[in-house]
Amino acid sequence: MECRVHRNKKDCNCTYEPCSRKGTCCECLQYHRQNDELPACFFTAEQERTYNRSVRYFLDGR
Ligand code: SF4
Repeated sequence: MECRVHRNKKDCNCTYEPCSRKGTCCECLQYHRQNDELPACFFTAEQERTYNRSVRYFLDGR
């Protein structure tokens, strides 16, 4: 299966522009998972802009 990086980039809500993982969802998920975090697409636009990707923030907003 071919990587859909260009399509993923189009759909990605992450506003952290310098990130080299943008659109490469497997690397994005792996990176955040190893830090007990979730990718930007789990968060609302308002939450995403805080750049707090922690599981705790996802679960209870802290
Ligand atoms: S969610 Fe994290 S790893 Fe994924 S594109 Fe945004 S900053 Fe990069």
